[in-house]
Amino acid sequence: MSINAKYYEAAHSALEARRAENKLKADMRRREVFARIPEYAELSVRLADTMTQTFSLIMARDEKTAEKLSKIKDENLAIQQRMSDLLEQHGFGKHYLDPIYTCPICCDRGSKDGKWCECFNKLVYNAATNDINERSPMKLCSFSSFRLDLYPEAVDPKFGASPRKIMQMNYDECVRFAEDFNGRGRGIVMIGATGLGKTHLSLAIAGRVIERGFSAVYVSVPEILRTLDREQFRKNGEDTMPLVTGCDLLILDDLGAEAASERNVSMVYELINSRINRQLPIIINTNLTTKELCSRYTDRLFSRMMSMNTLVFCGSDNRLRALQGSAV
Ligand SMILES: [Zn+2]
Repeated sequence: MSINAKYYEAAHSALEARRAENKLKADMRRREVFARIPEYAELSVRLADTMTQTFSLIMARDEKTAEKLSKIKDENLAIQQRMSDLLEQHGFGKHYLDPIYTCPICCDRGSKDGKWCECFNKLVYNAATNDINERSPMKLCSFSSFRLDLYPEAVDPKFGASPRKIMQMNYDECVRFAEDFNGRGRGIVMIGATGLGKTHLSLAIAGRVIERGFSAVYVSVPEILRTLDREQFRKNGEDTMPLVTGCDLLILDDLGAEAASERNVSMVYELINSRINRQLPIIINTNLTTKELCSRYTDRLFSRMMSMNTLVFCGSDNRLRALQGSAV
């Protein structure tokens, strides 16, 4: 199942649960009113009766139908008025038995005028957020569990500083980003080899940002490109683009791991560009060097990425060292 199919399915289930819950609430209100106002219960039977009569009259149409229909209509309106008055007189308010909707815009249908409602998009983001939690429990990838002691203290001549010092700065920058996050502004590009903590710090940012009430979507670039590609050829009602271009924070993991093709380059550009244009933050993780990024992607895309805050990760493979239980 593709990532977005999973999120959309979860959103549909949440919508269904919301409708069921609201129906239950409305039924309870109805029972409450019927118990407190017997006249209201009787009137609701009479109201239903006027509907049945209307239907029968239309079916057996004759010269007096119009006259009879008008009489029933008057009776129907009078009953409705009396029911409304009764609700008010008993302190319920005249809208007490109206259908209950969590979202009055789409009436909990999830879409309006052929477009997903904002409430549905939120449910999709929630599913994506839950996915981040499942994928990597926050306590495993939080700022507090990030081990700076795994980075060498000795100066690396290539960087002119020790990996630990550089990583301390990267760490501080990520904490600042998460704490100052307001859903707008520049993003971060994390550059460095596998196992140096890019995913860990991205997830730590996501965890904090989610904790602060924002939505975050975490996707690997090869995975998201395959999904977008599939959707272009098979319209199945799912649309991942708004999900990844509209969430508060998008984390694109493993840029450069996708097949090197012109089409992929242009899709990556569209993805990144659409967020930057709308000032929506993005975190990009890549194992490619800046030189490789420059030669692989177009100048336009490269310069857009370099306009973001670039953090270079260095050290030795931490995951490996952590697994071996040996600190540097
Ligand atoms: Zn809605």
